[in-house]
Amino acid sequence: MAAAQPQPVSHQNARIDVVVVGAGFAGLYLLYKLRGLGLAVKVFEQGGDVGGTWYWNRYPGARCDVESMQYSFSFDDKLQQEWDWSERYAPQPEILRYAGHVADRYDLRKDIQFNTTVKSAVFDERANRWTVTTSDGQATIAQHVVLATGCLSNARTPEFRGMKDFKGKVYHTGNWPHEPVDFTGLRVGVIGTGSSAIQSIPLIAEQASQLTVFQRTANFSVPARNAPLTDDERKSFRDNYPEIRRQAREDFKNGIVQPIPDRGALDDPEHERREKYHARWTSGGLTFMGVYNNLVLDQRSNDTAADFIRERISEIVSDPETARLLQPIDHPVGSKRICVDTDYYATFNRPHVTLVDIKAHPIEQILPYALRTGGKDYEVDALVLATGFDAMTGSVAKIDIRGRGGQTLNDKWSEGPRTYLGLMSAGFPNLFIVTGPGSPSVLSNMIVSIEQHVDWITDCVAYMRDRGAEVIEATRSAEDKWVAHVNEVAAGTLYPQANSWYMGANIPGKPQIFMPYIGGVGVYRQICNDIAAKDYEGFAMT
Ligand code: FAD
Repeated sequence: MAAAQPQPVSHQNARIDVVVVGAGFAGLYLLYKLRGLGLAVKVFEQGGDVGGTWYWNRYPGARCDVESMQYSFSFDDKLQQEWDWSERYAPQPEILRYAGHVADRYDLRKDIQFNTTVKSAVFDERANRWTVTTSDGQATIAQHVVLATGCLSNARTPEFRGMKDFKGKVYHTGNWPHEPVDFTGLRVGVIGTGSSAIQSIPLIAEQASQLTVFQRTANFSVPARNAPLTDDERKSFRDNYPEIRRQAREDFKNGIVQPIPDRGALDDPEHERREKYHARWTSGGLTFMGVYNNLVLDQRSNDTAADFIRERISEIVSDPETARLLQPIDHPVGSKRICVDTDYYATFNRPHVTLVDIKAHPIEQILPYALRTGGKDYEVDALVLATGFDAMTGSVAKIDIRGRGGQTLNDKWSEGPRTYLGLMSAGFPNLFIVTGPGSPSVLSNMIVSIEQHVDWITDCVAYMRDRGAEVIEATRSAEDKWVAHVNEVAAGTLYPQANSWYMGANIPGKPQIFMPYIGGVGVYRQICNDIAAKDYEGFAMT
């Protein structure tokens, strides 16, 4: 990927301690915590307000798939006691309101500069300072830079022949307009069948006169069973929050509290196994994968869960050919993030909804009002690109980051990202990454992971200050060992079998490396804590 050109500098900001890039949940909590140390912090955010993911992804049906009582900050008990989530999975506008509430509650906005993109960050080895250049031509000198740029924040728009000739409106789910989009009476084409498509398709189908869904890869989806939260449900969480949050941090690999499986799938006779799958299918949600403890480890066990979902699809979808196409067959269930839906499969029973297989017949060309595939033209007035993100590294790669000896991070990561703990990369001193590659990140309830990273980074900065240290940097040997460990843990699972965005497989030319750390948030937290307790073992501090 070409590095961004350094921007001309028009003026220089006051010297500050920490620049934070991004004002999603990670950036907000960083600002709160670092400010608590009495540091001067400046946050740059390219969007017009706080919220990150929830600022950009305004497509119909956008909502979290981790239950809101768990997908929320835990750092302030008053906040979690006072905020009322309306539904089991909050819709995007509510999560965005929550981010805004957090910003107001802790008076964070005054240190956030919106509509400003960080273009470059260059480390001055003599001064041990970063110079951060932004789209408004400012240069800001800071001791530390924290990349809170998000794992799913760089929307990917594939190139289709003839795209510029298309005369209708084109929308990307990851960069949706702020005003509501009305598809009433329109022929709509949706390209992609990942999580955003699966959430939005049932709602777009309510309005469109005709909906054509172009699918390359079928994904596994389980019913959300979304519903309003009752006062009793909220109270039960609130009364037990200290223990629930502890369990999320320590006991569950993915940071989501759920019943603990005590056996593998093949340890139960078939009828019991089916009953258990049915029970989870009926209660709904991501915890479907937690029925057994070996579903992402053992292929035969995984097959039992995958077969169960495939059966449900053929039961729900009336047309056998459509049902067949919707059944994923090319990856183990859970090796790509499982999707959570409301009426996704049933939507294909509606007479005006059609599924087109673009794996068998890739999109050949986009015409002014149609998509051509398999020699056939599908007429559309509007196109929705649900084509995902350049995940985990995409937003980092857009910044021209230069560390020791002028080396760019893009150069260093040309064969795939290399980090120590996902938190730092050797050769780039005082540059921290939140939920970076090499950490549990996208395999987890991300607010759990964000809070852990931010706490660790803040403690580290405080430690340095207390000891008069200027610079912290991951050592190459610690990084090499960590990268080997991340790969080794991934290799012991079924995850690398999928051509997923965890592997960078959705981006042409991107090196295919399994990016997140599968060891689980509890194990990972312990490793990070132990390293800090050993005076930041594996880091050089001067
Ligand atoms: P983001 O929210 O992505 O924020 C990063 C911010 O950095 C963005 O606002 C971006 O504009 C800004 N930025 C990036 N580069 C620059 C730059 N160069 N200069 C200035 N600003 C920059 N996770 C879950 O755990 N559970 C869920 O249910 C869930 N649902 C999701 C649903 C959708 C549709 C998507 C896309 C993601 C979902 N996620 C979910 C993942 C979600 O991204 C995280 O939960 C979380 O919101 C990430 O917060 P963040 O602050 O790390 O990053």
